[in-house]
Amino acid sequence: MKQVDRFIHAGTVITMNASFDLIQDGIVVVDGAEILDLGPAAEMQAKYSAVETADCRDQIVMPGMVNAHTHAAMTLLRGLNDDLRLDVWLGYLMPLEREFVTPEFVSLGTQLACAEMIRSGITTFADMYYHEPAVAKTTAEIGMRALLGQTVLMFPTPDSPSWEAGIKFCRAFLEEWNGHELIQPAVSPHAWYTATPELLQACAKLALEFDVPVHTHISETLLEVENCREQNDTTPVLWNEQNGILETKLLAAHCCHINRQEMRVLKKHGSGIAHNPSSNLKLSSGIAPVPEMLEVGCNVGIGTDGPASNNDLDMFEEVRLAALLAKVVRHNPTDLPARQALELATIGGAKAVHMADKIGSLEPGKLADLISIRLDGVHNWPHFSNNPENVYSRLVYAAKSTDVVNVMIHGRWLLQDRALQTIDEPTAMAKAAEVAAEIDAFVLRRESSPYNKLIILEAVEQEEAYETQIKIPLQAADPIIEKLKGEPFTITKQTRYRQFDTYFMFDDANPDAARLRFREDHYLGEDNQVESSRSRLTLLGVTQLDELQNSVMLSRTRFMAPATRSLRFYREYFTPDQEIEVNKERRRWRVTYQENDFAINLDQVLKPETEGWFLEIKSRTWSHADAIRKADLIGQMLAELGVSDSEAIRKEYVELAQNG
Ligand SMILES: [Zn+2]
Repeated sequence: MKQVDRFIHAGTVITMNASFDLIQDGIVVVDGAEILDLGPAAEMQAKYSAVETADCRDQIVMPGMVNAHTHAAMTLLRGLNDDLRLDVWLGYLMPLEREFVTPEFVSLGTQLACAEMIRSGITTFADMYYHEPAVAKTTAEIGMRALLGQTVLMFPTPDSPSWEAGIKFCRAFLEEWNGHELIQPAVSPHAWYTATPELLQACAKLALEFDVPVHTHISETLLEVENCREQNDTTPVLWNEQNGILETKLLAAHCCHINRQEMRVLKKHGSGIAHNPSSNLKLSSGIAPVPEMLEVGCNVGIGTDGPASNNDLDMFEEVRLAALLAKVVRHNPTDLPARQALELATIGGAKAVHMADKIGSLEPGKLADLISIRLDGVHNWPHFSNNPENVYSRLVYAAKSTDVVNVMIHGRWLLQDRALQTIDEPTAMAKAAEVAAEIDAFVLRRESSPYNKLIILEAVEQEEAYETQIKIPLQAADPIIEKLKGEPFTITKQTRYRQFDTYFMFDDANPDAARLRFREDHYLGEDNQVESSRSRLTLLGVTQLDELQNSVMLSRTRFMAPATRSLRFYREYFTPDQEIEVNKERRRWRVTYQENDFAINLDQVLKPETEGWFLEIKSRTWSHADAIRKADLIGQMLAELGVSDSEAIRKEYVELAQNG
């Protein structure tokens, strides 16, 4: 008789194998990290002897659930900002993350998340966040299985100042963790709308090189789809396809607003979809057309999404919501019946995260990731035995995460009799309370900051991360204007306007947000009459400037919003410590130089009254490398214009005005 490590003796074994076999009074035979065999108890006892037997005869045993999409470390931000629109919510959260999210932060957040997920019967989760090496280390120490996507954004992030640095960071993460028995590292461009095409392509290339999955958000809101059609003339799924993302082992979160053609494209590429019912409801993103996805044959899993948008990691709640929501999509209560809903949470999720060869069902040769659950609570009583399939209904429509008793991952018990075996839950919770107190203090301190006040007020947009510019005083403008008319410049647009700027200065604000500019542009026609005007608010950092070659300046992220109210209103609302006015007449040319777009300004500063002209050449980009390349081009343009950079001024107009 063969000796094995463990018997798990169950009242009912739910296998979730291809024929959905149920085994009454069954034993799952575990040896090492694997399921060696399973079947009726008497049969298994005749074939094997086990060192240890877990008596779960009053429970059901089933495959551990797969949480197909989350941001685990955001447990530490749970409930901080609720009931906001997605863009405003992100606008609030991202600066806070830049302040707080360190490897220690994500490690603690991941501990809390793993504790909650294990208790809820999750054995594998698909994550997307920052500092994923710390997430990986913590998860592996705890003993959970995970697909961990290192986020790459076009904005500066908590772990990378530019997207190129993000790709490098991600590559190092893949090199360190690919091939680990529990951790599957992945590449995570956050979404197409926080990426440039170059960024998406770089992510796809990196994922293919290492043969690892890509985990991204696709078609979460209708607004996203509309923006994609407007900007790229196609849908988010097809835009990702055009940029190579679908060539990879893709896991696409949300897909609330995809059509049948996009479903077929995702199926053709073997992509996975993570359906996140709670998050989609809470952020009012919409209801994913799951029944139709399943008809087309897509791989659909269920995710909790991050605890800041859910706000818990309770897989039982998600499975139930998935089943219920599917029924209202087509007003058909037979859509997504209980067994199929549980399928999405187990083997379906395993397919979606590209791990179905190893997990998702209880079958010989698969890894021993399994859970046991009591179904005899008062909320799940009595039972009918006329149809054994009733067990799926009890699990999906009545069971709760608190009914989970034991959890095994990779042949190791992580929860026994509801006690966590590898996480010091009280200590993690106490530390989380300390972090929450720090975040509280930060939020209170920043409550009156111009940035926070701005986002409460308006639809704030983040502008391109990098601006390269040079400013040079001139005696005369005419020679420059003549040179712009010919080779090698191509003028694409020409405007002339008066610009009235009022700068609100804040003494002790964060340097990222120390100045708020209220700008009115009055566009002038042929006859010097004002033809149109617009007003904008821009939040600027204080001289966060690097000097590149040729005295070109590099500045960073800014936030912008349309100004819909009067200067007086903003003055009273923001209560600045100081106010500075700068008025000028600006002639602006948009030009193409060596296939790159630049803005060239010739400015006459009227207030404070200043002699002569200023030449400015500017370009904006999301890429640090591109900014440096453009600095070089600006040097060449100056030479073409016959201007020396030795006179260049490394100051904004407001600083010139401030210094008199
Ligand atoms: Zn998400």
